[in-house]
Amino acid sequence: MTKWVYGFGNGMAEGRADMKNLLGGKGANLAEMSNLGINVPAGFTITTEVCTWYYENGRSYPDDLKGQVLAALAEVEALMNMTFGDGQNPLLVSVRSGARASMPGMMDTVLNLGLNDTTVQGLMERSGDARFAYDSYRRFIQMYSNVVLGIESWNFEEILDEVKDDRGYSLDTELTAEDWKGVVARYKEVVIREQGKPFPEDPHEQLWGAIGAVFGSWMNQRAITYRRLNNIPADWGTAVNVQAMVFGNMGDDCATGVCFSRDPSTGENVFYGEYLVNAQGEDVVAGIRTPQQITIAGKEKNHSTLPAMEEVMPALYQDLVRVRDILENHYRDMQDMEFTIQGGKLWMLQTRNGKRTTAAALRIAVEMAGEGLITRDEAVMRVEPESLDQLLHPSLDPAAERIVLSRGLPASPGAASGRIVFTAGVAEDWARNGEKVILCRTETSPEDIGGMHVAQGILTTRGGMTSHAAVVARGMGTPCVAGAGEFQVDEHAKTLKIRDVVLHEGDIITLDGATGQVMQGSVPTIQPELTGDFATLMGWADERRTMMVRANAETPDDASAARRFGAQGIGLCRTEHMFFDPRRIIAMRRMILADDEAGRREALDSLLPYQRKDFIDLFTVMHGLPVTIRLLDPPLHEFLPHTEGEIAEVAQVAGVSGKDVRERTQKLVESNPMLGHRGCRLGVSYPEIYEMQARAIFEAAVEVARETGVAPLPEVMIPLVSTPREFELMKDVVDRTAKAVFEEAGLAVEYMVGTMIELPRAALRAGDIAASAAFFSFGTNDLTQTTLGLSRDDAGSFLQTYQDKGIFARDPFASLDVDGVGELVQIGVERGRATRPDIKLGICGEHGGDPASIRFCQKIGLSYVSCSPYRVPIARLAAAQAALQSGA
Ligand code: PEP
Ligand code: MG
Repeated sequence: MTKWVYGFGNGMAEGRADMKNLLGGKGANLAEMSNLGINVPAGFTITTEVCTWYYENGRSYPDDLKGQVLAALAEVEALMNMTFGDGQNPLLVSVRSGARASMPGMMDTVLNLGLNDTTVQGLMERSGDARFAYDSYRRFIQMYSNVVLGIESWNFEEILDEVKDDRGYSLDTELTAEDWKGVVARYKEVVIREQGKPFPEDPHEQLWGAIGAVFGSWMNQRAITYRRLNNIPADWGTAVNVQAMVFGNMGDDCATGVCFSRDPSTGENVFYGEYLVNAQGEDVVAGIRTPQQITIAGKEKNHSTLPAMEEVMPALYQDLVRVRDILENHYRDMQDMEFTIQGGKLWMLQTRNGKRTTAAALRIAVEMAGEGLITRDEAVMRVEPESLDQLLHPSLDPAAERIVLSRGLPASPGAASGRIVFTAGVAEDWARNGEKVILCRTETSPEDIGGMHVAQGILTTRGGMTSHAAVVARGMGTPCVAGAGEFQVDEHAKTLKIRDVVLHEGDIITLDGATGQVMQGSVPTIQPELTGDFATLMGWADERRTMMVRANAETPDDASAARRFGAQGIGLCRTEHMFFDPRRIIAMRRMILADDEAGRREALDSLLPYQRKDFIDLFTVMHGLPVTIRLLDPPLHEFLPHTEGEIAEVAQVAGVSGKDVRERTQKLVESNPMLGHRGCRLGVSYPEIYEMQARAIFEAAVEVARETGVAPLPEVMIPLVSTPREFELMKDVVDRTAKAVFEEAGLAVEYMVGTMIELPRAALRAGDIAASAAFFSFGTNDLTQTTLGLSRDDAGSFLQTYQDKGIFARDPFASLDVDGVGELVQIGVERGRATRPDIKLGICGEHGGDPASIRFCQKIGLSYVSCSPYRVPIARLAAAQAALQSGA
């Protein structure tokens, strides 16, 4: 026989805390509290297996469920010394959902169940309070009718409003027992009117109605959406908890409250909570009355004038403190508890690990380790890596008011306010005059880099999480909201429109890149703090980590930020970003427009000093740490002039006609630039470009080694390779240049030449490529794009639909598609290692900063991950957790 029902109460329980899968979180913790001897109203849990059975069998129950429920109910009656449906001493119950993972407010609840015209008399006698009894009865009818019978609440609220109007009352509390009795009668008429039959008087019928409603609510739209957003599988099902009611609203020796074993917003080890005298739990949550503090310290801190529980009910307060200590020591984590006091007796209704801010999570983890309650390894596992993001950027002051205009993708975290501008040029002009600006574009392109760099925040109306704006903004640590499609940017009219709001150049908006919210006006922000508990926990994480963490960075500023966040090197320096500076772009354009090698070399010669300076700065900041420099990658036409002014300027400098420039530009246009003349294909066609870059790298390395005495560690990386021959040709260019520079300088530095693995063929032929490549860096942005045949720049428009329909669990550009793209990465690792056992292996796609992808990198044995500077701490913690989980 399957056991479908687990009882608890009076210091005993059939379940345990580790039975969450079967009993749900709430049921398992009620059982555990009961086992610990804590006062819990007796009850029973109907398992999640019944939920599964219910949905697999056309919303029906197993045959033997009824008998087990009746037996468990009899047990509750015995323990509480009350009888279900009894006219003198009626047992009333609550019926609540309880899934494995908490889904607050998503499913249904029925309270005060068991009331009818007979039992209400018993409740009246037991409480000596007719008003309370009829108030409870009408609450029950309304709740049951709504949840179980599907009658909308306004039907009932309308009546209550009428009665209050008639009597001239303003508050519910002014209604007398007789008033409530009249309300009950009218509520019952509503039920007959709406469903053609009377409200069920039989408590057993009520109970089965409520059980069915709770199981049914697992599949309501709210719950489905919540599960999708929180990755909770639909087949987990919910349990149903049936528990004796205790009342916090039966007089002044009654109360109800919510408390935390430590402060959930700061993490400080102080008891924290709120309660209300003579009230039900829903009154605390609904915010109808101002709650009072539990402790005197809390009262002082909150400048509350209302007395604390510690003062009003000192003995019960001590009982509650005892429970707090038992539960926190037992669960070894901060607890979020609900309690009710009835007639001077404390009852615990719930406990669970409490939600907390990131700052609190760090403090609690570090302090609990200090107290010996948990180990340092456990402390490292306690903090969600993603949540660190909250700490690394300025964030919106939670107390500040905000007018939200719309929402886009949370593309790069942090909050920023500024004046809106519509072009990168204006952004730069205004920033030079000390204005804080928000750059608003339909989408950004590499030419916007200057404006993006000076902007406080970036807003785009098109594009996804790996669109140009998103990637560049994350790299710079600039807040960005991407793909906010409700807005219309009109660059010519200089307006940003949404519905009937029209904003003009210079108007102020605020972006929250962590949530994707776009707000009108300026919202105050607060600055990050990287010392204290943060530093302590990161130190513990670093001791456990086996993978290195590097950053994707190209400017000295980004590199400094990366080092401040703990990066152990640069995993990707994208050199193309270095060519958009106004002084360089002209030379770059001349190079592209040149007819022959001699012309290209001339233009490249003028770029060399700039490029060398870039590397000198970068090597100096990185002070001997490895720096992976990728040679030019994007299609050349990205650098070409667009406006007539730009065309005329290039024509003049290059000594050709505007027509020539336009023609040459036309020739370079490609239908599929991402699959076109880019990456090492440019180096194959024009080796002199890579030669100039290699020269700049080695001349800079030699100079820095000589000046500082610390030799840089350049790792020259060839992009978009798919065959060994391509790599060998390019490596030859780099090696020859190195040799020449070292001879000229009379000084040599160590260096490596390796490749990106970002095309499926490269992963498959990794064995051949590793014969000459000293390292691989998996470029999982392009590898995802080319494996899935999905454009990084355009997929944003339908990826959400793909997630909604369960085709992709997550955005494959944000979290690695482990089964598909991951398999190619794994093949690349295995075949590369087979040829060259000591090959250095890393990842530099956006996935290098995603905790789930980092777990995968640990599993397949990569040496390092590389990510945006601002994600470095997240990657350090995620790598430590991955190492601990894998037992490394
Ligand atoms: C990649 O493709 O994963 C990569 C890191 O290169 P990029 O994003 O510059 O194409
Ligand atoms: Mg790439």
